[in-house]
Amino acid sequence: MKTHRYEVVVVGAGGAGLMAALQASRRAATAVLSKLYPIRSHTGAAQGGIGAALGNLEEDSPEWHTYDTVKGSDYLGDQDAIEFMCHEAVETVYELEHMGLPFSRTPDGRIAQRRFGGHTNNITGKPVQRACYAADRTGHMILQTLYQQCIKRNVTFFDEFQVLDLIVVNGAAAGVVAIELATGELHVFHAKAVIFATGGYGRMWEITSNAYAYTGDGIAVALRRGIPAEDLEFFQFHPTGIYKLGILITEGVRGEGGVLINDLGERFMERYAPHVKDLASRDVVSRAMYIEMREGRGIGGQRYLYLDVRPETVNKYAAIDGRTNPDGSPYQVTADDIMAKLPEIIDFCRTYMGVDPVTEPMPVQPTAHYAMGGIPTNIRTEVVIDEQNTVMPGLYAAGETACVSVHGANRLGTNSLVDIIVFGRHAGINAAEFARGASFQPLPSDAADFARQQLDRLLNSKGKERPIEIANEMKHTMFDLVGVFRTEESMQQALEKIRELKERYAYIQLHDHGKIFNTELLTAWELGNLLDLAEVTTVSALARKESRGAHSREDYPERDDEHWLKHTLAWLDEDGVRLGYKPVVITKYEPKERVY
Ligand SMILES: Cc1cc2nc3c(=O)[nH]c(=O)nc-3n(C[C@H](O)[C@H](O)[C@H](O)COP(=O)(O)OP(=O)(O)OC[C@H]3O[C@@H](n4cnc5c(N)ncnc54)[C@H](O)[C@@H]3O)c2cc1C
Repeated sequence: MKTHRYEVVVVGAGGAGLMAALQASRRAATAVLSKLYPIRSHTGAAQGGIGAALGNLEEDSPEWHTYDTVKGSDYLGDQDAIEFMCHEAVETVYELEHMGLPFSRTPDGRIAQRRFGGHTNNITGKPVQRACYAADRTGHMILQTLYQQCIKRNVTFFDEFQVLDLIVVNGAAAGVVAIELATGELHVFHAKAVIFATGGYGRMWEITSNAYAYTGDGIAVALRRGIPAEDLEFFQFHPTGIYKLGILITEGVRGEGGVLINDLGERFMERYAPHVKDLASRDVVSRAMYIEMREGRGIGGQRYLYLDVRPETVNKYAAIDGRTNPDGSPYQVTADDIMAKLPEIIDFCRTYMGVDPVTEPMPVQPTAHYAMGGIPTNIRTEVVIDEQNTVMPGLYAAGETACVSVHGANRLGTNSLVDIIVFGRHAGINAAEFARGASFQPLPSDAADFARQQLDRLLNSKGKERPIEIANEMKHTMFDLVGVFRTEESMQQALEKIRELKERYAYIQLHDHGKIFNTELLTAWELGNLLDLAEVTTVSALARKESRGAHSREDYPERDDEHWLKHTLAWLDEDGVRLGYKPVVITKYEPKERVY
């Protein structure tokens, strides 16, 4: 077993991890560990844009961005953190531009911006152009840009090192234990500060836009070390995934004027959100789609609807809506405009569905997309471990794995890319500053034992259960029973199933007992993470007897601020999930009804 020593260890090399590493490495000896090659991180799949009130095409302000985010969060987001993020967003986008990120441009050379769901002009209530983008490859460009900067600054990377455990000494983070995929060897990384930036866990659901690597490792590792998970009952279903495959069709398609159509040819969103229609926030649109399909208006009675971005359709509805360009002329698009702004989407649809979006509508269904919850942190990205927000010294989290919480019960499109860059940066700075003022905790001689035991248990299991079957049953259960709509009954059923699957998981059979690139072993370990998170998600959701944002209960259809304007904290103990709650930070905006 090898031991390494760095002042700061960053776990994860997506947007949050790379930004943290860039900052930390300027101030302290830093290493980045990533189970994937950095540029394969899920940030690279982000399409539509990064939100910042630059006001390049029309009037906008960080204050409006703040209010939209608070409202989009269904008032569960912490307003101090939201305000901080929305103000920092502007500088952040310029910082990325100065690093060389090739943003799409306006004709006069400024960063172009487009509409996205939930982002509005707070005076007129109309959609505002706030999303900065690089065609529909925004995340790809962010990842490439940050990785280049890290290489330029000689940041130390340990690629294909998967973290299995967090070392905690005297109640403080003291490092991590990781397996080197190429050799199967365990490595101990002794550190003064650890930053978790491990992304989400959407692989828990059957239809998902998320990468295979989205197995919630960071949250699961933290739970096993007594750190709670915050608000896991809030998981976003994005309205437009490719039918059956779940691959994401960016909201940017609707931003450019695309509309959702049912079997009767109706643009049904005007019934559900008369003001912003197809650009209502994601929870609202996903629910509307479910209702349409349930009432038999899915295409051909099936479980999908059409997303139509053909120029004739866009132009027809733009005229009906009276949409204009910034100079006041009517908004009209051509096939070439669509191809220039959405090249990847067109490519995906042609490749995976044999559908050409320029001449045909796309079959879509809601797809599991984004974790609003995660490892609880304060605004400084320090991990907090209880209802009183007690900090665990030396532990930081940022990005999708963290819950700071800027997204509350529902995230607005383009706000995750802002979140990862803004809070990734602060995690890097704060962790490095902490490390400079701290000394190394003594490293226990058995630091790697818990990780080793977890792997040995999987390797030595004598059962006949196939991990793939357990995984499929979990995904099915979560998608059908803890999905867009939920009830007491459906979630109870899910919980029983998840507990049964956890028991069966103890008897899985692995065929590969080798050391070199044993992906079977690590996939099985990841399945254990997803099962733990599925249990926490379901228990947290069962307890919350209201509907708010992405958590929509048919048996409790109303938001209940009197009892439920609070964050869930969930601990995973020996005998199951234990829940606690902490207040939401409200600064300027008292909860109101959401109207779209
Ligand atoms: C298809 C798609 C499109 C999206 N489009 C947008 C958009 O247009 N705008 C927007 O704002 N948001 C978008 N999002 C959301 C956004 O992209 C993500 O939430 C965000 O990029 C997550 O960044 P991250 O740095 O937290 O995680 P990631 O980029 O996923 O990085 C996670 C890192 O953690 C590492 N890791 C994980 N587990 C371990 C472990 N055990 N050990 C070591 N390393 C580990 C991985 O190797 C990886 O490097 C989209 C998401 C998807 C799925």
